[in-house]
Amino acid sequence: MDSTHQLEARGTGGDLKFGRMAQRTVYLETFGCQMNELDSELVSGQLRALGYRMVNRAEGADVVLYNTCSVREHAEQKVWSRLGELKFRKLSEPNLVVGVLGCMAERDGEDLIRRMPVVDVLCGPGELDKLPMLLDNAVRTREALAAEAAEEGDGAGESEHTRARTRLRSAGQVALQGGASRRSGTLAAAQDTLEMLDLSRAVSPEDHSGSAYVRITRGCNKFCTYCVVPFTRGAEIHRPPEHIIDECKRLADAGVVEVTLLGQTVNHYRFEHGAAVTIGGVVQPQKGRSYRGGHRRDPFKNETTTTFADLLARIHEEAPGIKRLRFVTSYPRDFGDDVLEAIRDHPRICRYLHVPAQSGSNRILKMMNRGYTVEEYMEFLDRARALLHQPEIGRPLTVAGDIIVGFPTETEEDYEATAALLRRARYKNCFIFKYSPRPGTVAFDKLPDDVPDEVKRRRNNELLALQQEVSLQTSREYVGSTVDVFVQGISRREQKRQQRPACGGGGGVGLTINGRALGAAPAAVEEQTPAAEPVQLSGRTDGDLIVFFDLPAGRSAADLVGRIVPVKIREAQPLALHGDLVAGA
Ligand code: SAM
Ligand code: SF4
Repeated sequence: MDSTHQLEARGTGGDLKFGRMAQRTVYLETFGCQMNELDSELVSGQLRALGYRMVNRAEGADVVLYNTCSVREHAEQKVWSRLGELKFRKLSEPNLVVGVLGCMAERDGEDLIRRMPVVDVLCGPGELDKLPMLLDNAVRTREALAAEAAEEGDGAGESEHTRARTRLRSAGQVALQGGASRRSGTLAAAQDTLEMLDLSRAVSPEDHSGSAYVRITRGCNKFCTYCVVPFTRGAEIHRPPEHIIDECKRLADAGVVEVTLLGQTVNHYRFEHGAAVTIGGVVQPQKGRSYRGGHRRDPFKNETTTTFADLLARIHEEAPGIKRLRFVTSYPRDFGDDVLEAIRDHPRICRYLHVPAQSGSNRILKMMNRGYTVEEYMEFLDRARALLHQPEIGRPLTVAGDIIVGFPTETEEDYEATAALLRRARYKNCFIFKYSPRPGTVAFDKLPDDVPDEVKRRRNNELLALQQEVSLQTSREYVGSTVDVFVQGISRREQKRQQRPACGGGGGVGLTINGRALGAAPAAVEEQTPAAEPVQLSGRTDGDLIVFFDLPAGRSAADLVGRIVPVKIREAQPLALHGDLVAGA
């Protein structure tokens, strides 16, 4: 999933740029997971505070940044091709500043700069707190050198002018990486200035659309054999609960209704207050302790520890303005009943789990170093459903998964076992990926990528088709019931319809809330409607199901967006429900 940050201009810039006053503009494109989206949001806030203006087109921007993902090769290729395009632009605009942030910056390091001299700034995920100053410095350096090149060019021959421009092109490249691995070696955190990035989050009503991410852990200790995350994001680090709760409260005060807590293995969250380190009056994040699972309760729980279950309960109690609290991604092992009970006992915690299985074959799971068997995974799902699936009181549990097909040595039998797991697990949706060998991982070094691409593709397509069937079955269970929907905005179909002047419908109403365009639904559920139909709104249930409903006559979309309203479901699709707003809501 890619997303382009389209943040409105709020900066107070006004620096001298080539002799004129101008606010510098930044285009920031984000690849990859929610963690990257949050990083981009935090970096954008800091850049705006420095006077930069975020824009939604790369063309014309003074600074172009890519926040990258290395989880699969495909995501990296997109960035390489974007950088290739910029190479030509930079020939005519040598003062353009290009930055690569995130996992590719961490993984490829200075090799990336060597391969792509167009890149001025490289900043790994562990160093993002330093990015704004680094970038500001790069922008100013480029501008000074550009002015110098212009001056030298005025009175110089062609070759001196060319040399001056070449100096400009290669000057000022800065690489900051290694933050993730450095942090791995420390228990706490003199080095963990990254916490300041989260702590300095600018929260205001204009900055959100009712939903927000809040990081609770960074990094990962798991080392699944196919995965780059432990190398790009470093060891598992847990933020102090007070920082997390304070962030949730500030978001609630600014009107945020729904918070998603983020971590690679979110259920591993634990903060041991007895071991906390304070520097300059700020409690520091803490390195996670590893433990091997199967535990029904956090084995380190005591009166001076905040476990994940405690954290959920505290946010629920101390930030009641957050009407929906969810979390991703859960690790299937080490998921205690205490967490399930906390979900059950707190009505504002969503009954939704994203808990990837990765494979339905025990042989493959072992080679992936996942640390659980299919039987243990299914036991967990059964346990979670026994405690939390209560459609009779309007509180069903929904579960989403991730699967990798074509892992080294995967046979038809292994693959059939994964298909069987999909049927049993009854996910509401499942992300299915083709195995992508990632340099630096154990699988890359030790296992042959021996499943041909056409076999990977076939398995991928078959599992997608199977999951469509399962999703349709689970969606149909909602027909006839009334669900609470958090209204996110007008649907994407509706947005497209309003942009088509020939249709006449909607007339380009351009609905906004808090100055932002109202949200959209995923492409997977788009469809066409005649212009005469009423405005279609979209939102999500507590269990993260997408719901579409028409704006009733006489109602305004702006009154409903950002609210949780009851919708009676009349029709189901694999990835979406359609219904009607309950009268009087
Ligand atoms: N921490 C989460 C977990 O363990 O479930 C997942 C985080 S990972 C960034 C997101 C998903 O990407 C994984 O669940 C996995 O399915 C997929 N993934 C990771 N490495 C991959 C690879 N080398 N090839 C294909 N898919 C991969
Ligand atoms: Fe990657 Fe495994 Fe960690 Fe998830 S748990 S981020 S798949 S190493």
